[in-house]
Amino acid sequence: MSDNILKLILAKDPDEKEYHQAVKEFLETVKPVLERNPEYRQLGVLERVTEPERTITFRVPWMDDERQVRVNRGFRIEMNSAIGPFKGGLRFHPSVNNSILKFLAFEQVFKNALTTLPMGGAQGGSDFEPKGKSEDEVMRFCQSFMTELSRHIGQDTDIPDGGLGVGAREIGYLFGMYKKQRNEFTGVLTGKGLQWGGSYIRPQATGYGVGYFAAEMMAARNDSLAGKTCLISGSGNVAQHAAEKIIELGGNVLTFSDSSGYIYDPEGIDKAKLAFVKRLKNIKRGRIQEYIDKYSDTTYTESDSSLDYNPLWTHRADCAFPCAMENEIRENDAYNLINNGIKMVCEGADMPSSPEAIKIFMDKPILFAPGKAANAGGVAVSGLEMAQNRMLLNWSAEEVDQRLRTIMKSIHRTCLDVAEEYGEPGNYLAGANIAGFVRVVNAMLDQGLV
Ligand code: NDP
Repeated sequence: MSDNILKLILAKDPDEKEYHQAVKEFLETVKPVLERNPEYRQLGVLERVTEPERTITFRVPWMDDERQVRVNRGFRIEMNSAIGPFKGGLRFHPSVNNSILKFLAFEQVFKNALTTLPMGGAQGGSDFEPKGKSEDEVMRFCQSFMTELSRHIGQDTDIPDGGLGVGAREIGYLFGMYKKQRNEFTGVLTGKGLQWGGSYIRPQATGYGVGYFAAEMMAARNDSLAGKTCLISGSGNVAQHAAEKIIELGGNVLTFSDSSGYIYDPEGIDKAKLAFVKRLKNIKRGRIQEYIDKYSDTTYTESDSSLDYNPLWTHRADCAFPCAMENEIRENDAYNLINNGIKMVCEGADMPSSPEAIKIFMDKPILFAPGKAANAGGVAVSGLEMAQNRMLLNWSAEEVDQRLRTIMKSIHRTCLDVAEEYGEPGNYLAGANIAGFVRVVNAMLDQGLV
């Protein structure tokens, strides 16, 4: 059944390689569910979950500081609303296209299901590059983007969130425009500022959740993060807060990167050094290379796209936390990690390991956590932000953090239990995919053919 679906998807949209990759990985792991439920074929379950409920594409015209008109493309993929209104991030990056957003939306459906909160799955964004743009340009772009997007979203229909290239600044400009156009102050976006409807811990939630999930995986093997050396890629929202939690739990973080290169600090990145990185990236909007000007006993290695491996993953370490981009760990990187003693790979980004890399990890006795489980803390706290908005109140940081920790523990337990139930003990990838799939499919079937 699953091979036919892949053929169908390839024939319909032959160029969507990231989407094919996500669906293929998914189908391989949910085979046991399909075998137990042969009626799914006649019910068209796979055809339905792999086809977005709605795809919106639009023009985003804006004017740069030289008064030159620029045009970008905006998207919103509303993938599945079986268990709640569409919910998922926005990404602003030059690589954004239908395939990347479809893979993100597909992953989001099952990630959201794992949180057990009532949220369907979606993703959106634009091929706009915020890096190097002035504040005014970013604001004008966000306003133009929201002018169209506002027709399609709402607190009961589709609630976008931040994501790669879309942080607190962008959410502010997007929210301001939505409010002006619709004349309503509602929880239509998450990741809002604390003074205007945001939730404590939302900025930290994805990275903290990654740390909690990693700690749970270690605990399941009677181990902990204390004293473990950790390689982290990226230096954005997820990377920074994963590092913060890992440091708090006693881990020793050695690396950060951006698209230009990476730094390696053999002494470890402590709280003070992390505070420097946060200021550098979030306020100054600088490059990670500047780290070595401040901390001289460190090295900086420039990115080199001609290499078929990333030198960041060649350092000896116990744990790897890819927190930048999809497919950033390729086959050679996986071999390098394994050969350098890695015990755990915990994905902070969405689909950062290529299929070849995943296969290598699965063949070894290491812990491997897929992003859709390990990074679900962000959308979980976004769900909590929606709940607080509905009640017109704010929970304390401690309360939200406690709820986040409980949700991550429960996702971890679900992955293990479901993997065991379907004959794949210890396989977090299978556990996450099957648990999310079962919840979404059951809801779809309950609601009839819609
Ligand atoms: P940010 O935009 O805050 O940070 C992204 C980081 O990745 C930046 O340091 C960026 O560097 C770096 N990067 C981008 N491209 C490359 C590249 N080709 N090579 C190396 N580094 C690169 O994004 P987030 O931290 O929010 O998102 C990171 C990942 O986590 C994404 O996969 C996203 O989908 C996923 N995610 C995010 C969630 C969230 O709540 N924010 C929730 C769940 C998943 P540069 O500054 O040079 O661009």
